[in-house]
Amino acid sequence: MSENKITYIKNENVKEKPASDQLSFGKYFTDHMFIQDYTPDKGWHNARIKPYEPLILDPAAIVFHYGQTVFEGLKAYRTEDNTIQLFRPDKNMERLNHSNDRLCIPQIDEEFAIDAIKQLVEIDQDWVPNAPGTSLYIRPFIISTEPYLGVAPSANYQFIVILSPVGAYYAEGINPVKIAVENQFVRAVKGGTGEAKTAGNYASSLKAQEQVASEGYAQVLWLDGVEKKYIEEVGSMNVFFKVNGEVITPELNGSILEGVTRNSVIELLKSWDIPVTERKITMQELNDHYEKGELEEAFGSGTAAVISPVGELAWEGKKMVINNGDTGEIAKRLYDVLTGIQYGKENDPFDWLV
Ligand code: PMP
Repeated sequence: MSENKITYIKNENVKEKPASDQLSFGKYFTDHMFIQDYTPDKGWHNARIKPYEPLILDPAAIVFHYGQTVFEGLKAYRTEDNTIQLFRPDKNMERLNHSNDRLCIPQIDEEFAIDAIKQLVEIDQDWVPNAPGTSLYIRPFIISTEPYLGVAPSANYQFIVILSPVGAYYAEGINPVKIAVENQFVRAVKGGTGEAKTAGNYASSLKAQEQVASEGYAQVLWLDGVEKKYIEEVGSMNVFFKVNGEVITPELNGSILEGVTRNSVIELLKSWDIPVTERKITMQELNDHYEKGELEEAFGSGTAAVISPVGELAWEGKKMVINNGDTGEIAKRLYDVLTGIQYGKENDPFDWLV
């Protein structure tokens, strides 16, 4: 397995930091990065934190041609008393290994990876912004580096972690978005790579996203890849509906990514005694509930936005306006409690913080 020490090479040419209230998403990167190599003889080895800089890779590296790569996304939050905390990093490292398995990439040592993330964030702690709603986005990823044009798992890999200070997702408070149900393209199919966090899923989603954006919608609602009947996800978020007081989310089926926020939402709802069900749900069923006035709320969940209410859903030429286009009660409560926990304003009954 991994050797358990991390070499540190300090960056002597630190960058100027952007103002905390001028950040968007994923545009700025900190002074250091974490890298670890994998070779078949040594396993994961040579863990180091070093100055952030471009990589040198062979143009024949497998990652460029066949996309054998996985990634994760999580955040570090600065609290009012200046503690820096991570939200459920164990879940992200568990999912990274799940993705590794699907992409034939060797397993990482999850605890060691969390430790590496902690050390990297500590070194670049001045980059964790303090304006309301801002955070330090953490992007762990693994690339296949063997120069080989045959379609086969790579012999060699690099595990890298980079950090990016990001702005508040909602500059003016939590805000419902318009979503279009995608009837032409699909994101993933059962048996495919949908439940892994791998580049190809995101590359194949771009076309649909581009199309609906030109029609004024924020995201697409993805249906299942075979019958295009069952609801799967919204943009790069999991999706929830409140129908007659019950919260419903599509059950995990192999093509849906198991979100850390999704899991946290389910646990919170259970702890509040709000009925929550994971099951299959079709767009037709949702529409029937809407027609009967039973569709009370719709919202997405993910690390970036935490909770993203859906104000309008366009499906087969019809516009469904949900909760008068306003943020629903449950979406608001979930958003307030989750961000409260993340920023240390609410207590953390589940021990989610590190
Ligand atoms: N689905 C997809 C396809 C995603 O990319 C993400 C973001 N990781 C999610 C759902 C939400 O997952 P999480 O709550 O872990 O951010």
